[in-house]
Amino acid sequence: MQPRRVAVLGGGPGGLYAARLLKLANPACEVRVYEQGYPDATFGFGVGLAGGTQRKLEAADPDTLHDLAVTGLRHDMTMRVGDAVARVHNSRLIGVARTDLLAVLQRHAEKAGVELEFGVRRTADELDADLVVAADGVSSATRESGAFGGRVEVGKGLYLWCGTEFALEDAMFAPVETEYGVFVTHAYPYSGGRSTFLIETDEETWRRAGFDATTAALETAGTPFDASDETSLRFLEQVFAQQLRGHPLIGNRTRWLRFRTVRCDRWADGNTVLLGDAAHTAHFSIGSGTKLAMEDAIALVDALREAPDATTAFARYEGVRRPAVERLQELARRSQLWWESFPSRTGLPVERLMVAYMSRAGNVLLDRFAQTSPDVVEAALRQFGGEPAPEGELADWVLDRQLVHGDRTFPDRTAVPELERLEVDLRDPWSPEGDALVARARGTGGVLVTGPAARPALLTRLDLAERVRLETGVLTAVEGAAALRDDLVAGLVSGRTDLVALIEEPV
Ligand SMILES: Cc1cc2nc3c(=O)[nH]c(=O)nc-3n(C[C@H](O)[C@H](O)[C@H](O)COP(=O)(O)OP(=O)(O)OC[C@H]3O[C@@H](n4cnc5c(N)ncnc54)[C@H](O)[C@@H]3O)c2cc1C
Repeated sequence: MQPRRVAVLGGGPGGLYAARLLKLANPACEVRVYEQGYPDATFGFGVGLAGGTQRKLEAADPDTLHDLAVTGLRHDMTMRVGDAVARVHNSRLIGVARTDLLAVLQRHAEKAGVELEFGVRRTADELDADLVVAADGVSSATRESGAFGGRVEVGKGLYLWCGTEFALEDAMFAPVETEYGVFVTHAYPYSGGRSTFLIETDEETWRRAGFDATTAALETAGTPFDASDETSLRFLEQVFAQQLRGHPLIGNRTRWLRFRTVRCDRWADGNTVLLGDAAHTAHFSIGSGTKLAMEDAIALVDALREAPDATTAFARYEGVRRPAVERLQELARRSQLWWESFPSRTGLPVERLMVAYMSRAGNVLLDRFAQTSPDVVEAALRQFGGEPAPEGELADWVLDRQLVHGDRTFPDRTAVPELERLEVDLRDPWSPEGDALVARARGTGGVLVTGPAARPALLTRLDLAERVRLETGVLTAVEGAAALRDDLVAGLVSGRTDLVALIEEPV
């Protein structure tokens, strides 16, 4: 179809990119972006763009990608516990300042002929256009007022998004134990000699440190809307002094937040279509929000180009994007649960912790990780098996390792004795139902964690088994289909289970 007039609500990465691609595809169409903020007053620090995203941007719009790649800073990724460090090479990941990202996208949108209007807050229904692209972010008023069937799930953990004025050499995950509990930073360098420091913690630690009070104080009448939680920043700057090398933490409307996962039953209503965070969000620990918003823009413009009318185009756009978005949201959900329970794992040697991190959502298994980071996997296997693993077939070697548990010795990891069966079929192992299962395991001579054959159920079982191991210390075995052996092997090396029971069943 060839729309005459398109209004884009929101000048974040999704809206700006959609506007440019639309205008390039339909030069005669009038495309206007309405952004409530001002071009140089953007919120945020750096965002990461992975290699796969860059390839998609390259195919859709090489000019924009070129300018983003020039601006971005390449970096590896490290896990640091105390002085121990595990490093994962990632030659394609770049960190871009959100200000630079938006400046590039604004410039390219204008170059294509898009009109940008800043400093105006609008609603979708007041815009006079054939189509309205609502890219108005996670708090989208369009989603809330339309028939999109939007739902928001609020995370248990708390996080604070801040930065510092020096560029780390690599991205870094680093937990620090304090008198109140554990705080973890996800920090990454970005262009302009700066780094993002995202810091998260659990609710109990947050309350013990008194941050419920600092958060409430910021919500009292008269506090400027853009004030940061300076008390938390000053405290955390001491906690992370080693990682910050004495630099201060900088806020930018920085306050403690709980991550909001947005899902919608449908992304279109009449002539209005949702895009980016307005339609869906995925936990920050998989670093995909910008990617999803920009990939939505590519798919929407492709669908509009090919379809005869808006209804067909919106259905095609959603048909293409929804499976990819839901797959990432599921990975993000698992990743979020893993990070929210992170402090319980800091006793693992750092390389095994890195394997646990990589396999936390089931998307990177041991063999693949060994190809990209052989040194980390080699060290993790040595820590797991007590001796170096030979080259070649890793899974068999892992399964053949002996286990000494208390006064019992098992010749290998598949030698499962008679154990109490723990039937697990739940979505969140850290839910009250999960608590009840852990309580049941306590005081037994060991449990065999069983449940449905499908892979998602097995991954959840492994998480529940890990809770049982770490919280009760009882012997833990996980049952799973032989076809899912690689997940069970990653579970063993990551400390999620002591033993595995491989059974022949279809998945
Ligand atoms: C802590 C944290 C860390 C993150 N780290 C990463 C990362 O490493 N990598 C990554 O890819 N993503 C990251 N993200 C996510 C990323 O910031 C967002 O997913 C991304 O910006 C979404 O783009 P968007 O265009 O959909 O929405 P936004 O960027 O939120 O843009 C929406 C725009 O709409 C405007 N707007 C809203 N309502 C109106 C209105 N009524 N009228 C006019 N304008 C309006 C807003 O001012 C805003 O500019 C992170 C997010 C968080 C919270």
